Amino acid sequence: MKSFSGSCLCKQIKFRCETPSLWCAHCHCSLCRRAHGAAFVTWVGVDEGNFTLLSEDTLRWYKSSPDSERGFCATCGSTLFFRSARWPEQMHIVRANINTEIDLEPSAHVYWDTHVDWVDFVDPPTLQIK
Ligand SMILES: [Zn+2]
Ligand SMILES: [Zn+2]
Repeated sequence: MKSFSGSCLCKQIKFRCETPSLWCAHCHCSLCRRAHGAAFVTWVGVDEGNFTLLSEDTLRWYKSSPDSERGFCATCGSTLFFRSARWPEQMHIVRANINTEIDLEPSAHVYWDTHVDWVDFVDPPTLQIK
């Protein structure tokens, strides 16, 4: 596939991204868990130059840590994007808000050492990154 697209729940934010994607991983950090209200969050990392916002009136950004920002929809509350000085020129996109298949499957568990103990993970992750 040459590109994929996605949106927030209310569809006021729409985006499109050219492939190849850089990586896809599950993040178990406490910030992601809290921001998304989820046990973990699956992210896709893409080159910022491949990423296009098609509709963004309701997109808001806030600082979630000193060098990082998270993007969400002001209407429906969907949490969609992450960008950080730690990974310059990358956009991180929430996998669940992409409408289609993408060119990568999740291949790592990030911050596995802080994962919740109230989910049974059937596949003990082999590749763990801190
Ligand atoms: Zn929305
Ligand atoms: Zn995280």
